[in-house]
Amino acid sequence: MESGTRIQDLLRSLEHEYPHASLALNFRNPYELLIAVILSAQCTDERVNQVTRTLFERCPTPQALAVEPLESLEQMVRPTGYYRNKAKAIRACAQELVQKHGGEVPRTMEALMSLAGVGRKTAAMVLGNAYGIQEGIAVDTHVLRVSQRFGLVGEKTPEAAERRLMGLVPREQWTWFSNALILHGRTICTARKPSCRRCPLADHCDYARQTGKGT
Ligand code: SF4
Repeated sequence: MESGTRIQDLLRSLEHEYPHASLALNFRNPYELLIAVILSAQCTDERVNQVTRTLFERCPTPQALAVEPLESLEQMVRPTGYYRNKAKAIRACAQELVQKHGGEVPRTMEALMSLAGVGRKTAAMVLGNAYGIQEGIAVDTHVLRVSQRFGLVGEKTPEAAERRLMGLVPREQWTWFSNALILHGRTICTARKPSCRRCPLADHCDYARQTGKGT
């Protein structure tokens, strides 16, 4: 996919299908979203939501999370997998929020990425979905795969793909675009078996065109 018109057509159709695409993670404030995104690594959002219901009841603020005993956190986040590392990461992250940012989640990519357990994808997700700040496009496994199938990117790494996508998608749509591709990747364009025949975006997709699966 190279021409600007094709990309605009694709974005228009994507908007038609997923006009209000948002994350499936439950959160009430930037702190909750940040912790939920860290816990969502290698885990379904559904399970994270189950875990955070209890976690945020017990630790409603970074201050509370920062002093929660590690063993207690491990028990709470256990269902999300990699629980020892995750418990350590969210506690360290909360401690840094308290010590360096007055208990607030920072509003810049740089400051967010300096926190324990936070990479560029997490930072972009938090900035976009909690603050409406478009500083990047969160490229997770779904966004990478679907962008490649559409033919938007040939890049293999999330970092390189993000750079390409940032040049293709208007900035004000970055957060929505990432959320929409995550939704599409979960429901239709799945990793194992993309449902090209019932895909409403097949007309814009290089993979469907090349394989003839969209017809
Ligand atoms: S046509 Fe197939 S490969 Fe292309 S976006 Fe739709 S489901 Fe994915």
